[in-house]
Amino acid sequence: MTPAIDLISDTSTRPSAEMLAAMSRAPVGDEQLGEDPTTQALQDRVAELLGMEAALFLPSGTMCNLIAFLVHCRSGDEIITADTAHVFGSEGAGASAFAGAQFRPIPSPDGIFSGLQLEAAIRAPRYRSPRSRVVSVEQTSNRGGGSVWPLTSLWEIATVGQGHGLAVHMDGARLPNAAVASGHAMAEHTRGFDSAWIDLSKGLGCPVGGVLAGSAAFIEEAWYWKHRLGGAMRQSGVLAAAGLYALENNLERLAEDHHNARLFGSLLAGIDGLTVFPENIETNIVFLDLTESAVDAHEVSKHLAAEGIRLGVEGSRRMRAVTHLDVSRADVERAGTVLARILRDQAAAA
Ligand SMILES: *Cc1c(COP(=O)(O)O)cnc(C)c1O
Repeated sequence: MTPAIDLISDTSTRPSAEMLAAMSRAPVGDEQLGEDPTTQALQDRVAELLGMEAALFLPSGTMCNLIAFLVHCRSGDEIITADTAHVFGSEGAGASAFAGAQFRPIPSPDGIFSGLQLEAAIRAPRYRSPRSRVVSVEQTSNRGGGSVWPLTSLWEIATVGQGHGLAVHMDGARLPNAAVASGHAMAEHTRGFDSAWIDLSKGLGCPVGGVLAGSAAFIEEAWYWKHRLGGAMRQSGVLAAAGLYALENNLERLAEDHHNARLFGSLLAGIDGLTVFPENIETNIVFLDLTESAVDAHEVSKHLAAEGIRLGVEGSRRMRAVTHLDVSRADVERAGTVLARILRDQAAAA
């Protein structure tokens, strides 16, 4: 049973009745024979939205990243990314395990790094050095508190990366959030990138799926890996229909999630010992840091559970709240108010 107000992640959304209806109506065929019209339509739509030649529907965002690295890298190559990146810390070291590539993390609390930092991390070609092969950016940065890379920063990374012969990759799990928050189309964000993907199962509210995009040659190669990894499906149009529905109906409304995250943060302002991160909430992710507090996150979580509210707990001093389409403004207002009360009560009792 999930709690009444679940802020653990934007993955906790359930497919709506309208989305399920769209899924049940979808024309389908065998994806592997190129005969599933709904999957084709989703791939075409995402390629267009990301300004790429082609796209590929995959079961998860993790597989989008893994396949991109498998296509871009050879064994012994190096992938440069932020030390807070999902690819570095939350994907079972897939690129290392399966592509034989190692990560080179750039220290970056907000998940954003500069062209200068990238340049410093790129290794000069030497027999004894790993080959710098890929730079990977995460838009928005999850551990960075949903921070949005400015367009100019993205373009700088693309220019520097390509200038050094690197493949330039975007983990765009929440690129739709970045597009809505910045007011710039997704294709603007991915300009100059060799590969990029969006997750359907985060803020867009689908039960499953990610779509990876790039050049026609890149996607051709990605197909081999999709089969090899067991990611090729059959009547995947049932799932792709959810994606098409979401891109049509759930994209612009991400702005509500961003408003709600800011509301949540504002309800927690001025509580002793609590630091809300980021200071300027740009999208749908809010971290609570209790390092300066006497309060334990697990204790707070228990009290929240008794009120039907759930946040993510990351150790005894850190919590995360993510807003999404299954939590209303009233839900968020209640969660923020109750949490503020619990934090004050706990601090007083400590
Ligand atoms: C969730 C997430 C992923 C992985 O996506 P899944 O669909 O859960 O496999 C990758 N990168 C970031 C930044 C994410 O938040």
